[in-house]
Amino acid sequence: MATDTKRLVILGAAESGVGAALLGKQQGWDVFVSDGGKIKEQFKKELDAAGIAYEEGGHTEAKVLNAVCLVKSPGIPEKAPVMKQVRAAGIEVCSEIEFGYRYKGNSKIVGITGSNGKSTTTKLTWHIFKTAGYDVAMVGNIGYSFARQVYEKPCEWYVIEISSFQLDDIHQFRPDIGILLNITPDHLDRYDYKFENYVASKFRIAENQLPTDLLILNKDDTTITNYLTTHNTHAKTVYFTMDENNIQDEGAFVNGDNLHINYGGEELKQSVHDLTIKGRHNQFNSMAAGISARAAGIRTEKIRESFESFEGLEHRIEYVATVRGVDFINDSKGTNLNSVWFALESMNKPVVLILGGQDKGNDYKEILSLVQEKVKAIICLGVNNEPIISYFQNVIDDIIETKSAKDAVLAAYACADKGDVVLLSPGCASFDLFKNYEDRGTQFKEAVRNL
Ligand code: ADP
Repeated sequence: MATDTKRLVILGAAESGVGAALLGKQQGWDVFVSDGGKIKEQFKKELDAAGIAYEEGGHTEAKVLNAVCLVKSPGIPEKAPVMKQVRAAGIEVCSEIEFGYRYKGNSKIVGITGSNGKSTTTKLTWHIFKTAGYDVAMVGNIGYSFARQVYEKPCEWYVIEISSFQLDDIHQFRPDIGILLNITPDHLDRYDYKFENYVASKFRIAENQLPTDLLILNKDDTTITNYLTTHNTHAKTVYFTMDENNIQDEGAFVNGDNLHINYGGEELKQSVHDLTIKGRHNQFNSMAAGISARAAGIRTEKIRESFESFEGLEHRIEYVATVRGVDFINDSKGTNLNSVWFALESMNKPVVLILGGQDKGNDYKEILSLVQEKVKAIICLGVNNEPIISYFQNVIDDIIETKSAKDAVLAAYACADKGDVVLLSPGCASFDLFKNYEDRGTQFKEAVRNL
């Protein structure tokens, strides 16, 4: 098969794939987009307008295997037959952030990864940079793809939310400032069910960093600290923690009600009550974002101001309404037990917990003590609620099964007394009953508003 010199093939025509296609075309590649499923109309229009050839509903071998470089959508697993062929053909495979990186010029990157808190920290970091007047874009999993931004409107700074799937196919990608928030088991199906593979994938954020770069890490995460006892990083490391004793010189910590960030010769001290986003997990996120801002030269006053004006994200411990003394909180994005733990931890009223969905292999022991301490009733919201019922039946008296957001809200409301909080924090994926977590959260909010 003849190999064109600059043939770029994109597998998967969604936000990241189309972004890479547009950038590739602009940079003089002969671009071809191939999607095994249906391509959304909006993306087809964009490809048509740019004169980019594409196919859908399958991959034509001859049109894919002549690639010099192949950009793979993060959603396509290695075990997909087309990927096996691509690997066998020895084609260079790039993730979209790798491709974008090659054309980013002199701009700088804050790259944010972790198992939980990526979107929140990405948006908060972007918000601080924006408030400080920086020329900055927020890209990656959170919205616009990095490649699309580089194509459409290059900026001086990019704050990129990065999933482990995006890190799996980097080669040169190097954030000037990397943030690794935490590592807890997730997506293990994509890592041969080996946690160590997933950990290694997350640490690739630091793989190409130089001593002049910065790596911001969670000192309280033993998976992270253990990994560093046997692996080196080249970047300068700086930590955030809940324990002041962990920080000798530079870093961030929470002491009582105050959050401290000490970096680059300035110290910020701010009451955690002044942060608009609540909960211990958000203190971690704020510390990480704050250090990155200091490292980018932003004054502490701007950081303080930004912490007080940040609006947070929908579906993450989002206050919905108070109905006859009962608060309703939407944490539909809480799709694993670690985030349920943090959501429960941040509640200071008795909780009626709406839990369940598509179970990714949960061990409910993780949240047992917080459930015992704070939860008065569990409302299951899933097709198969058996794992929840069998685990908690001897712990919680009221466990009720529901199969729609409306029924879950009605049942929760019936269990709740004035002064309680109803928390939707499912700890599971949403795909059994909903289109996605946004759909689940939106239906929940609608049901609350209809009470
Ligand atoms: P991600 O983009 O990594 O999925 P989000 O910011 O969207 O993270 O938050 C996802 C869920 O995780 C939410 O339920 C949120 O309350 C919880 N969460 C946010 N930050 C953290 C953190 N640092 N540690 C644990 N859980 C967190």
